[in-house]
Amino acid sequence: MLCKSVVSDARQVQLAAELVRLGARLQVLESETSLSRERLLKLYKEVKGESPPKGMLPFSTDWFMSWMPNIHSSLYLDIYRYLVEHTPARGIDAMMTAYRLYLEHLQINRLDATLSFTRAWSLVRFYEAKMLDTAQCRQCSGRYVVHAMDLHEHFVCGLCHVPSRAGKTRKTVSEPLKSVMAARPQPAAAPRRSAVAA
Ligand SMILES: [Zn+2]
Repeated sequence: MLCKSVVSDARQVQLAAELVRLGARLQVLESETSLSRERLLKLYKEVKGESPPKGMLPFSTDWFMSWMPNIHSSLYLDIYRYLVEHTPARGIDAMMTAYRLYLEHLQINRLDATLSFTRAWSLVRFYEAKMLDTAQCRQCSGRYVVHAMDLHEHFVCGLCHVPSRAGKTRKTVSEPLKSVMAARPQPAAAPRRSAVAA
């Protein structure tokens, strides 16, 4: 039994280190591993060479609704849902793989990542808690992150309808973002599945 617990401990350390490398905050490590806070702090400092940032994780779903974060979040969530539908990956493993693929999709189009790993993790938790959902754009048929409680009958996404007062950044990134979104994996539209608990 001792041998088994050593193996499982090693896996936990490996998972925690991997999460730190992806940029996860300490709260994510505490939630996803069974290691003590002291060990996680030590590990964080060792991997990153600095102490973890202090403060609470953002609790609001509103961040995911602003223009650029909404497009990035929708891309990430589609990749995540696609992985859960088509591979054995679940929970934190699916979240990490989806995050690496999200970064790859952006690199191909030379775009910066707007979504941090911690945000991506929160996004999946909000989605699983049914606080956030996706709605289909009437123009491009892409699925985008929306508040679950809102009405989405006539939903048009931020790329099909770039606000007229959009800044220079939005105009510059609209086209590359469109090609990223066109190339993203397409999960089934419905029904939603609970992946975190599996
Ligand atoms: Zn659209």
